Amino acid sequence: MDYIVRATAADSQIRAFAATTKETVELARQYHNTSPVATAALGRLLTAGAMMGAMMKGEKDLLTLQVKGNGPLGGITVTADSAANVKGYVNNPEVLIHANEKGKLDVGGAVGAGILNVIRDMGLKEPYVGQCELQTGEIGDDLTYYFATSEQVPSSVGVGVLMDKGNTVRQAGGFIIQLMPFTSDEVIDRLEAKLSEVKSVTTMLDGGMTPEQILEELLGEFGLEINDTLPTQYHCNCSRERIEKALISIGKKDLQEMINDGEPIEVGCQFCDKKYQVTVDELKGLLARSSR
Ligand SMILES: [Zn+2]
Repeated sequence: MDYIVRATAADSQIRAFAATTKETVELARQYHNTSPVATAALGRLLTAGAMMGAMMKGEKDLLTLQVKGNGPLGGITVTADSAANVKGYVNNPEVLIHANEKGKLDVGGAVGAGILNVIRDMGLKEPYVGQCELQTGEIGDDLTYYFATSEQVPSSVGVGVLMDKGNTVRQAGGFIIQLMPFTSDEVIDRLEAKLSEVKSVTTMLDGGMTPEQILEELLGEFGLEINDTLPTQYHCNCSRERIEKALISIGKKDLQEMINDGEPIEVGCQFCDKKYQVTVDELKGLLARSSR
C-alpha cells in the first residue's frame, strides 16, 4: 500500500514529506508498457507529483508537472490532486538507452535539456504557473532547483525507482525536505551536512526502511515530528463524458471528417489503458454540440 508521510522538524523550521510509491509506479509501467528508463523517469515524477499534490490545501486543487526535454523520452506529464491521486505518461515509453557511467538507468540522458513547468490550478481565474530550466534531467535535481528559484523555498528533493531483473518495479519512493524562511543558519548547515552523507532513497527503501524511518534517518537529530500519513495511488478519472468533451473541442471540421469516414472511432485515454468507442451517430451528436 503506497503512502505519504508528512512531518516537521526543528520546531517547524523544516517541513518534510516521504513516500513509498512502488504500486503506483508499477501500475504506470503496466498501463504504458514503459521501458526501464522510461519507468524510472515517469516514476520519479509521479512520486514527486504525489508529494507535491499532498502539499495543496483545496479539495479541488490540481497540480500538473511537465518535463519537456530534447532527449529521446520526449517529455513527461504528471497530474496530482490534493488527496495524492496521481497519474501520468511519457511521450515515448519504449525508449532504450545505455546506462550512465555509474551503471544506473540514465534518466538525465533520456530526458535531455529543456524545461520544467509546474502548474497549480486552485480554481482561480488563472492557474499558477512556475517554470525553470532542467538542471540534469534527473528529476530530483530539477525539482530542487525549481523550488529554490521559482518558489524561493530552499528544498532537497530525492526521488528514485529501482527496477527488478524482470523489469518490474522493485522499489519506488522519495522525500522532499523544505526550509521555512525563519530557519536558523545552524540548522541549515547541519542539514546540508546530513543530506550530503545519506544513502539514496532506493537504497534505503530496498534495505527495508519505511517512509517514517527514512525521515527519521534524515531528520531524527532535528526533533522529527510525524504529523500524518495519507494513502497515494495511481488513479485515472477519465470518463466517457471527458472523452466526448475532448472530441467536441477539436472542432466541427475535424468531426465532420471523422463522420465522412463512416467508421466508428476508438479513443484511448493518455493516462490509463481505457479505450472508448464512438459510433458515427454519436459523432454526429457531438458535432451538433460543437460550437466551432
Ligand atoms: Zn484514463
